[in-house]
Amino acid sequence: MTERIDGHTILIGLMAYPIRHSMSPTMHNNAFAKLGLNYAYLAFEVTNDTLPQAIEAIRTLDMRGSNISMPNKQKVIPLLDQLDPAAEMVGAVNTIVNDAGKLTGYCTDGTGFMQSLKDENLDITGEKMVLVGAGGAGTAIAIQAALDGVKEIALFNRQDEFWNNAQRNVEVINEKTNCQATLHALEDQADLKAEIQDSAIYCDATSAGMNPLEDLTLVTNPDWFKSDMIVFDTVYAPRTTKLMTVAQKAGVKHVLNGLGMMLEQGAEAFKLWTGEPMPVDYIRDLLF
Ligand code: NAD
Repeated sequence: MTERIDGHTILIGLMAYPIRHSMSPTMHNNAFAKLGLNYAYLAFEVTNDTLPQAIEAIRTLDMRGSNISMPNKQKVIPLLDQLDPAAEMVGAVNTIVNDAGKLTGYCTDGTGFMQSLKDENLDITGEKMVLVGAGGAGTAIAIQAALDGVKEIALFNRQDEFWNNAQRNVEVINEKTNCQATLHALEDQADLKAEIQDSAIYCDATSAGMNPLEDLTLVTNPDWFKSDMIVFDTVYAPRTTKLMTVAQKAGVKHVLNGLGMMLEQGAEAFKLWTGEPMPVDYIRDLLF
């Protein structure tokens, strides 16, 4: 790192709280080093209270941009000059690009999801998807899938505090894209089973499967899955979740965790800042 930093080094940030656990600084700095790019990526503990000053600092210090994570993904929107159309539809920003003082907000989680499927030579355009979850990840996935040509999305959620989000996501998709979205209560298990059996991909974008819910899967019966479908769990720690075990038991051919999505959302941001593709395979082998 010290060999790389000089008077010309360009700074990129990550503004969130808590954030010290993040892998993003390691991922981006290794990618810069591998490509010989004179950038440095640093994590900053930024809360909603300090966000306005931190965003202004991007302009003041002529930083190239920043990643944004919780609790700032929505709060940052009024502080920016413009939004990419997908970020506007998602209503959240995870990446900022600074072009000579003009800050544009992007959301790369959804493009990361779609790219991680492409990396496995899987194409879900024109297909039907069952998606469970309408939080940050579920919203980004739903909007990007709809924008990229997924034909139909059956969106399930618990009737919890995210239910309104799910309603909103369905409305936005039906109003602004050619995809047809329908809203379903996760509590209706017969409906979930029927929709899965009518779909090419089942995607879980809930907290199920992730610490502290490692033992939870929203589908427990392997018979609900078809062997020729895709089962995608957005969780990447653990690498094999309970849902993935159920899908493997069903003989599902394409069972994916969220590691590819995580790497590709980073790669998308990397490209926006540097104009270069991130060496994704190198980073995967080095760090994961
Ligand atoms: P969030 O808190 O914004 O949303 C949580 C979602 O999970 C909501 O839809 C909620 O209704 C649902 N949920 C919570 N507990 C549940 C339960 N017991 N049963 C059924 N549904 C439940 O969280 P988020 O940031 O959207 O994260 C959701 C998942 O996505 C997490 O597992 C996270 O690991 C994953 N994620 C992956 C990536 C990636 O790059 N791979 C990025 C972000 C999030």
